[in-house]
Amino acid sequence: MADPIALPALHASHAGTWLREPGAPAGGGTRALSKGEAVMAAADTPLLILNAPLVASRLGYPDLSGLDLLELFAFVHPARFCVPTPKGLADALGLDEPIGDGDVPLLLQRAAGALIQTCESGEWREREGAWSTLQSLARLRWPWAGVLAPAIRRPEQAEKWLFTRLPEWEETPERPQPGQVLIEEFEVEGRLERLTGEGAERRDGQFDYTRSAGRIFAPRAKDKRPHVLLAQAGTGIGKTLGYLAPASLWAERSGGTVWVSTYTKNLQRQLRQESTRAWPEARPDGTKPVVVRKGRENYLCLLNLEDALQGGFGGRAAILAQLVARWAAYSRDGDMIGGDLPGWLGTLFRKRGIAALTDQRGECVYAGCPHYRKCFIERAARASAQADLVIANHALVMVNAARGRDHAQRPTRIVFDEGHHVFDAADSTFAAALTGAEAIELRRWIVGPERASRGRRRGLSARLADVASYDEAGGMAIEAAVHAAQSLPSDGWLGRLAEAMPDGPIEMLLAQIRATTYARDESGGVDAGYGIETEAAQLPGELVEAAGHAEQALAAIRVPLIRLAGRLEAVMEDAPDWLDAPGRARIEGARHSLAWRIDLLAAWEALLGRMGGPADPEFVDWLAVDRGDAREFDVGLHRHWLDPMKPFARVVLEPAHGVMLTSATLTDRDDSGPDWPSAIARSGTPHLELQPQTALADSPFDYATRAEVLIITDIRKGDIPALAGAYARLIEASDGGVLGLFTAIRRMRAVVSRIADRLARAGLPLYAQHVDPIDTGTLTDIFRDDPRASLMGTDALRDGVDVPGRSLRLVVMESVPWPRPTILHRARRAAAAGQSGEEPGGAQRYDDRIIRARLAQAFGRLIRSREDAGHFVVLSPAFPTRLLSAFPPGTPVIRLTLEEALQRVQKGIGSDANIRDHDEERQES
Ligand code: SF4
Repeated sequence: MADPIALPALHASHAGTWLREPGAPAGGGTRALSKGEAVMAAADTPLLILNAPLVASRLGYPDLSGLDLLELFAFVHPARFCVPTPKGLADALGLDEPIGDGDVPLLLQRAAGALIQTCESGEWREREGAWSTLQSLARLRWPWAGVLAPAIRRPEQAEKWLFTRLPEWEETPERPQPGQVLIEEFEVEGRLERLTGEGAERRDGQFDYTRSAGRIFAPRAKDKRPHVLLAQAGTGIGKTLGYLAPASLWAERSGGTVWVSTYTKNLQRQLRQESTRAWPEARPDGTKPVVVRKGRENYLCLLNLEDALQGGFGGRAAILAQLVARWAAYSRDGDMIGGDLPGWLGTLFRKRGIAALTDQRGECVYAGCPHYRKCFIERAARASAQADLVIANHALVMVNAARGRDHAQRPTRIVFDEGHHVFDAADSTFAAALTGAEAIELRRWIVGPERASRGRRRGLSARLADVASYDEAGGMAIEAAVHAAQSLPSDGWLGRLAEAMPDGPIEMLLAQIRATTYARDESGGVDAGYGIETEAAQLPGELVEAAGHAEQALAAIRVPLIRLAGRLEAVMEDAPDWLDAPGRARIEGARHSLAWRIDLLAAWEALLGRMGGPADPEFVDWLAVDRGDAREFDVGLHRHWLDPMKPFARVVLEPAHGVMLTSATLTDRDDSGPDWPSAIARSGTPHLELQPQTALADSPFDYATRAEVLIITDIRKGDIPALAGAYARLIEASDGGVLGLFTAIRRMRAVVSRIADRLARAGLPLYAQHVDPIDTGTLTDIFRDDPRASLMGTDALRDGVDVPGRSLRLVVMESVPWPRPTILHRARRAAAAGQSGEEPGGAQRYDDRIIRARLAQAFGRLIRSREDAGHFVVLSPAFPTRLLSAFPPGTPVIRLTLEEALQRVQKGIGSDANIRDHDEERQES
């Protein structure tokens, strides 16, 4: 084992603060100290710490800096996974895990020693590039540079620069249309048997499911009439292999591509793993049969990185850029969000450094970029065109279907797993928002850099300079668009709105929207610091007038853009000699991005055109001021489809040949069983007058003996001290392993601040979304890694946490998850009530469906495998009985006091005492 490094180390948790001086004897030398002393010590000398922002928040001292072990880890082992906790670091480095907080400083010294020893060893796998990066980091005064310098020897040959090291992608021929093949049921079954492996237990539910899935791959009989299957499969059916079996068979026979779309990154990860049973890692020609594809804003843009490395980023952000460059050389696919870049790396550097290194704003210059042939995004796009299986997410599949660059690459065989989220994904994909933040993005895309802005941002004129000088009409169109775009908001627009000094027609409109929204708000959101909104109805004359001016201003931008698109097409058709293949690709790229902006402007104009006029029954429009922690961050107009599955049906379903929506919670369930009519209505198929096939496979898990729902009857709503006390006691009773779900961030913060210290002193770490400076994916990794940890969070955790085993044994919901009473919700609820005609209670049924779906998703976190067991607690005395059908049939539901619940939780599921109690209760009832 490496010697501990001779530097002082500091650790702070909710339970206290500990410091260890260098060179202290092995069995001692660590002392507890006050937060004040710790801050003074950190100001005196650089201390070893783990996760500086987290330690800073524990000490209440935001300016803390030091020698962060996580930064060192990212440098020494780029693209390697590490849970950013003392235990996680110890596991990643093969060191002994610390038993208590007091052991952590010594662990930090040992970990630093081990990492430095790695740098000195001849077997360091990630040595290439380290010396050169270290020289740059030393110039940036990275605290670790001086410590590392003696350990990293200068290489004999000069190291290659990242941009020369990365491999180039190959241009590939277009894939022919898939063959029309029919796969028989027995073949699908045979494939499933092969995938599940010899000797695997045969599950009839899975076989029924796989046969149903196979039917969507049959040849389509009529144009615009895809095969659509809605398949509900309870947890544990093995649905992933259930659809991968026919998908792999069809892809093999037809030479086509199947897209599997997910909502969460967890499932993407799982799919990547499971697909290895059906496909090899690479084909004999080196291409990949399975590709994970994400939106371009997920990937590192090499041009942005180059700019950041060459002075575009300053201070700490420049250090981040160097560490990202280290990672890029070792990354599997350049995916920065949920790929192999540690999720915690960005949060160590606070500002939006990671986002600035991706291509967020569609500024890509395609073949005009010097790194085009090495670009991660281009590589992923090409790889997916050749793949048998593309693993993507709902939003990307929809965007690709709507405006994919290449028609041949649009998805036609699609499995939407986590299909209960398709409605929400369609809702945001097909929505329009004319807000200040969106409008300023458009201005930057057209105009380019203004004043002293840093970075490589380039406007239309710079991106298409060669076209402008060759084609006069094209040049004039660019000039006209740049001129017209001056009417869009510019930097400082939010401040000008607050001071009632808007500049230009769009800012004037935003000022009117802001004033009207504040004037009408009755939600209490102003005082609470939340966002506020109001209907786009009965609008004041000034706002309607401002909307008219704004509409004209937007049309004045759109017209020259359309002209420019026409000129680009003409240049392509009658290409000049100098236009080589990369030049053509760049113009193609520009045409694609132009079409997207022209559509956006048209959607904004349509939205403005209806202000003051009659409402369009297809849409719900509203005005909003977005706020967080009482600070405004955006203002604007919003338009959502009343039924977003209408555009989904036209854009995604209609051109497809086979589509499957599958989930454990696809249908609502009331006392009479699964509600297929509402699931079908939400699938979009009625818009094509199509009757989908349906399939149902119940979970094989024995919920009656593996889970209990406990409804606590003695915690009053709104009593925060009682709520906090209940959470603390439940966490203590189950000895951690609790997922706490809240419907309001404010309540969650209030609860966490009351109980975190008490739990930490008992050795029960508590982490919370929106409280700890850690991204949600990393929080989940931390929770999964430590069976005594508990995690508190809101919506994203209800459906995004997949933690089988002991780490999650109790889910606690603070209340019934009622839908938020937004304008959009009200409109959909009213529409649902209207559709139910004479039948009373349509609006309530609509709400009940939403709540039951949320409860079912939250409950679904608890039992992930046959061996899992646990309690699901709702801290709400007013839990309506009609919602209980959300839980799987057979799950015991017990209403009881907190005291009684604590006893049950402490005894654990499956204990003899609990089974006896439960049997007695059943007999009594
Ligand atoms: S091709 Fe586009 S996305 Fe790729 S590195 Fe260049 S500018 Fe960035």
